[in-house]
Amino acid sequence: LTMACLTAMDAGDGLNAFVHKTPEIALDQARAADARRGADAPDLNGIPLGIKDLFCTKGVPSQAASNILRGFRPEYESTVTAKLFDAGAVMLGKLNMDEFAMGSSNESSCYGPAVNPWKSDDRELTPGGSSGGSAAAVAADLCLAATGTDTGGSIRQPAAFTGIVGIKPTYGRVSRWGIVAFASSLDQAGPMTKTVRDAAIMLGAMAGHDAKDSTSADLAVPDFEAALTGDIRGKKIGIPREYRMDGMPAAIDKLWADGCAMLKDAGAEIVDISLPHTKYALPTYYVIAPAEASSNLARYDGVRYGHRAKLAQGDGITEMYEKTRAEGFGAEVQRRVMIGTYVLSAGFYDAYYNRARKVRALIKRDFEQAFAAGVDAILTPATPSAAFGLGEMANASPVEMYLNDVFTVTVNLAGLPGIAVPVGLDADGLPLGLQLIGRPWDEAGLLNHAYVLE
Ligand code: GLN
Repeated sequence: LTMACLTAMDAGDGLNAFVHKTPEIALDQARAADARRGADAPDLNGIPLGIKDLFCTKGVPSQAASNILRGFRPEYESTVTAKLFDAGAVMLGKLNMDEFAMGSSNESSCYGPAVNPWKSDDRELTPGGSSGGSAAAVAADLCLAATGTDTGGSIRQPAAFTGIVGIKPTYGRVSRWGIVAFASSLDQAGPMTKTVRDAAIMLGAMAGHDAKDSTSADLAVPDFEAALTGDIRGKKIGIPREYRMDGMPAAIDKLWADGCAMLKDAGAEIVDISLPHTKYALPTYYVIAPAEASSNLARYDGVRYGHRAKLAQGDGITEMYEKTRAEGFGAEVQRRVMIGTYVLSAGFYDAYYNRARKVRALIKRDFEQAFAAGVDAILTPATPSAAFGLGEMANASPVEMYLNDVFTVTVNLAGLPGIAVPVGLDADGLPLGLQLIGRPWDEAGLLNHAYVLE
């Protein structure tokens, strides 16, 4: 299996999904897996995976697709990758992504964009972002599954754009230790897989308490695979009316209706719900995420990691810091650092950052009220459209790109689990995904609902 994936990975170079290949590590791990073969082999024994470049992998370049981390080889292994390797997984290499996971099209990567294996009239499409390399690699069968991370949709949107499954677990379910931080109160890692069953198995291997991440929850990890019974009789599925956007493409409308019908046929009850603060979700996210990013990214100072700019005679530490960051960070990352610094500054803190935190609490309360009223899961589209063309947004304003996250950011702001499942194709034959949002810690129920839609 590993040999086949290594061959596929090389043949798939045109997708620019893998940015660093680790065939020697893969073959070593595959041989070790062969030696463990048998009934008591671990769950992912010998399963070849791709790892998003945001995960620190010991001795292997981990650059978060940024020039500022050029040459950075961590001394340590992230908790997630360590757990996957303990479960027998094989690492084929590191996967492309938006720089520091900021973006929705993989176009902010220092390696250039990953390409969606799906095409429309020979037009090259984005695989989405920020986990675009992960999505492209899984969809093109270069690996069996991949890790992703999701701060505002970066697992679910690329999964929807490439016709695969992606789950963002409840905040705290998966350790963030050793994952390059973007916005620490929103970031979660999760699996990107071909099927819901694969997602259940892989999430089981990734999840669990970690003393090295103080926000990691000390909760037992259920057997997610055993939860896939397909029995959702009597479950209540909420349809939030605020997610019905003006100008939504007909194909998305139809997909949503089809999803309702599938859940209803399986015995679930469909109910209208209201999440009244939804309209504030994007502005709230685009204050909180950059604020946390500006703080997290302050550590890239030209001293501790990766790149340092060449200095001129007489340059001091300030010039070193400025030149390194100006060279090392791409445009989108610089924009986020500036927005974040602004909303956290003494004069604007109350007007922006504190206000956003209050609205975030209201967004969370909307969901709590829906669940308290008996809703088991919420069904929405995963994205407002199918995959768009590479370069298509190049001249658009950054806000237009941010609009891609309209259905996904609420879930991170509320800390809830969310899953994207491929459910249909649009008129051009491109994949579309639906999103299910669950109660906190109910990934098992969420996966079972997704299993019915698959
Ligand atoms: N597209 C969103 C952003 O640019 C979400 C990214 C993510 O989830 N990492 O911030």
